[in-house]
Amino acid sequence: MAGPLPIADPAPADGLLPASATADAASRAFGVYVHVPFCRVRCGYCDFNTYTAGELRGLSQAAYADQAIAEVAFAHGVLAASGVPDRAAGTVFFGGGTPTLLPATDLVRMLGAITDAFGLAPGAEVTTEANPDSVDADDLRRLADGASRACRSACSRPFRTCSRRSTGPMIRPASRSSSGGLARRVST
Ligand code: SF4
Repeated sequence: MAGPLPIADPAPADGLLPASATADAASRAFGVYVHVPFCRVRCGYCDFNTYTAGELRGLSQAAYADQAIAEVAFAHGVLAASGVPDRAAGTVFFGGGTPTLLPATDLVRMLGAITDAFGLAPGAEVTTEANPDSVDADDLRRLADGASRACRSACSRPFRTCSRRSTGPMIRPASRSSSGGLARRVST
């Protein structure tokens, strides 16, 4: 289980972003990170904010996508209310945790919500981390198809996968399954 949160600035009372965050925002690159805090097992060296099924204390992994989608709409509203002009996302990154523990349809739905709220810039890069034991070729095809739909003509490089917690024997199935229109990068 993740450790205590670091001490940071208190949340602004009005719920808006502080001036230090909005200054020059329109001229900066805009990317969206979606944290999916679930893992099948907890690796001993890991300090990411992530939870195994036994650590969820009755909360539902199946409800996560809908909650994240609501959070996307909320974030879009906060940015607008804070005076940050709308910008299309140049990158969308699903990290964790192990995002591919969720059904591919959930990842595609979350990407759709981001696309609806912000749009995707031409050439936008959409990436998900994955453990090789949590995806198969059908999953990757669903991700690639969903990303292609979401990107429409604006996105020329749909869904990359970035696999972690990899061992030699587990990389091979992921390598074979990269044929579904996905670019693939494996890091250990
Ligand atoms: S799979 Fe990755 S995110 Fe999950 S516990 Fe292991 S190192 Fe951490």
